[in-house]
Amino acid sequence: MKDEKIQLHDKTFKPYIRHERILDAIDGVAREINHDFHDCTDIPVILCVLNGSIPFTGELLQRLDFPLQVVSVKLSSYQGTQSTGTVLNVMGLTSNVRGRRVIICEDIVDTGNTIVALKEMLIDKEGAAEVRIATMLLKPDVYNKPEKLDYVGMEIPNAFIVGFGLDYNELGRNIRDIYVIDE
Ligand code: 5GP
Repeated sequence: MKDEKIQLHDKTFKPYIRHERILDAIDGVAREINHDFHDCTDIPVILCVLNGSIPFTGELLQRLDFPLQVVSVKLSSYQGTQSTGTVLNVMGLTSNVRGRRVIICEDIVDTGNTIVALKEMLIDKEGAAEVRIATMLLKPDVYNKPEKLDYVGMEIPNAFIVGFGLDYNELGRNIRDIYVIDE
């Protein structure tokens, strides 16, 4: 890992989690998923949440040892006209998941709004038979949902990070290590 700080747009970030440590966390997630699915008779769906989860899903896939299908989904969230909060749009689930067991691969869970809305949508609208959640990172101090997170790579404090798929205004996704905002 380079020890220097990096600049993305108007913000500076300092080194935080090394690439090797991230891979260790993904090893752990893969071990647990393999344990739960190694004797499956169905073909579970690994659902990559674009774009942030591309590196996580790519590493995870190489470690999973049962027959599986990869599907991607792109989400967009925005403030709707109602005051109830965030509206989530699923744009282009690349394959039908009706009746399938789905493992969502998320880069990071913060409040949990995204993941819980996605899980509900996969079950209620898309007809998935079962949905589990795998996240590379979790901010436990912020997560405020009763929903169980099935597979968690690593817990981190509440700070804004970039790298290994995570962006700041679309920059930083290609950085191997994870950096935290330098305030
Ligand atoms: P949530 O819905 O759980 O509050 O937020 C989840 C999404 O917010 C993640 O998929 C990610 O896109 C974004 N996010 C949350 N925390 C961070 C962070 O520290 N850095 C970056 N780059 N994105 C984050």
